[in-house]
Amino acid sequence: NHLFDLILAHLPPEPASKTMLETPDGLRISYADLVARSGAYASALAAQGVKPGDRVAAQVEKSPEVIFLFLGAVRVGAVFLPLNTAYTDREIAYFLGDAEPAVFVCDPAREAALAPVAKAAGVLTLLTLGSDGNGSMRDAADAAGHGFEDIARGSDDLAAILYTSGTTGRSKGAMLSHGNLASNALTLAEAWRFTPEDVLIHALPVFHTHGLFVATNTVLIAGASMLWLPKLDAGQILSVMPRATVMMGVPTFYTRLLKQPGLTREATAHMRLFISGSAPLLAETHREWSARTGHAILERYGMTETNMSTSNPYEGDRIAGTVGFPLPDVALRVVDPETGALVPDGDVGMIEVKGPNVFKGYWRMPEKTAAEFKADGFFITGDLGKVDARGYVHIVGRGKDLIITGGYNVYPKEIETEIDGLPGIVESAVIGLPHADFGEGVTAVVVASPEARDEAAILEALEGRLARFKQPKRVLFADDLPRNAMGKVQKNLLRETHAGLYR
Ligand code: ATP
Ligand code: MG
Repeated sequence: NHLFDLILAHLPPEPASKTMLETPDGLRISYADLVARSGAYASALAAQGVKPGDRVAAQVEKSPEVIFLFLGAVRVGAVFLPLNTAYTDREIAYFLGDAEPAVFVCDPAREAALAPVAKAAGVLTLLTLGSDGNGSMRDAADAAGHGFEDIARGSDDLAAILYTSGTTGRSKGAMLSHGNLASNALTLAEAWRFTPEDVLIHALPVFHTHGLFVATNTVLIAGASMLWLPKLDAGQILSVMPRATVMMGVPTFYTRLLKQPGLTREATAHMRLFISGSAPLLAETHREWSARTGHAILERYGMTETNMSTSNPYEGDRIAGTVGFPLPDVALRVVDPETGALVPDGDVGMIEVKGPNVFKGYWRMPEKTAAEFKADGFFITGDLGKVDARGYVHIVGRGKDLIITGGYNVYPKEIETEIDGLPGIVESAVIGLPHADFGEGVTAVVVASPEARDEAAILEALEGRLARFKQPKRVLFADDLPRNAMGKVQKNLLRETHAGLYR
């Protein structure tokens, strides 16, 4: 199933008069434009000698042209490879060396710095695309013909390589096929009841699975529209909300919007759905949002490697602190990480998934790929969780964040939830640090109001609530928790910073 064929098959009846995307400064792109412009990008890439299977890498700011570039690459049979805009020249050198793309598209402002980097990596063609949509890539597309005969691709052929967020270590390139992307887009459009009448607020970055695939592909397959915002700006989101029906965001979207006095029932009256993912949504945020707006946020769970795997129901209870049920075409199980045996419902274990959503492996890492798949095809997500009596999946945290102290397993989320409930606490991250007696010492890094910055008081409050072995040995205070572009707390940085605490 070719991803672009699927988009064509779901094209609105009058593509020229149906808005695919609109920007705050009045730019409007129709579905007819989408077909023509992605065809022009495909022609331009073909003219540069891009062949099926070649990688087309891009480190570009968000603009509507990125969609044309992505689909243009897909239409010439190439593999689209978007890179985080925050990556430095040195990081780009690593990714280009690893992916060996035929074409690399970068921001015009960085062309001079990145030209030698691209050359050293053997990239033949360097083109540019700026946040205003201008650059030599766009010029090449403008000069190329619109009509493009798409290169046929099968379900298992690659459509994209997406690097993981690098929350737990060096980013890995996840190989995603046409079938992976197409099946998930169809599943999500159905699960979340997308129709051509929908207008999605799109303020996510487009180098990550959330903004590029979950948001964009789902909208395109539904023939719906997007309000395309450059970045998270709570005031701007509120100002466009009266014209929108759906928003997808990471939890930070919701906490920032909650700080806006203008977030009310009236302001969200036109909206039918709020979706959250990419990082855990605090149950408290879910409750506050319901109280302020009357909408229950729908939380879902996925990862770069698997696209989306679970979702709270559209109809039925959206339960705070859970990520809902496995999607219809996804099999999910929870196993004992040591023995691989299924654990009883309600017990915590390693989450494994299987389905048409699951990727083809890590780019040029065959051993790592082999190690993360079970013989029966299940992928080991690295996330710990449980399934409750009603079938809702709960994510407890990452396997790599599990703390083993004095031989006992401690799940950080349980301790974080207790700490976050104390007065004056904004948020917390619980980590394990090397400890001579215990192996790892449970340690809390806490963001709190000035009055609540009291280690002894927090430890005392936890006394009666948590078993002794779960109680932090130390509580440290910070002004913020380190987060990456997707709002994920970078516990590896915290572990590095405080590595010597018990030594
Ligand atoms: P890396 O694999 O490079 O360390 P990463 O895992 O953060 O980085 P992504 O693929 O962007 O990279 O993120 C997937 C992870 O995000 C999941 O494995 C899970 O830990 C977390 N995640 C996504 N959605 C949710 C959610 N709703 N609740 C809790 N965690 C979530
Ligand atoms: Mg990961």
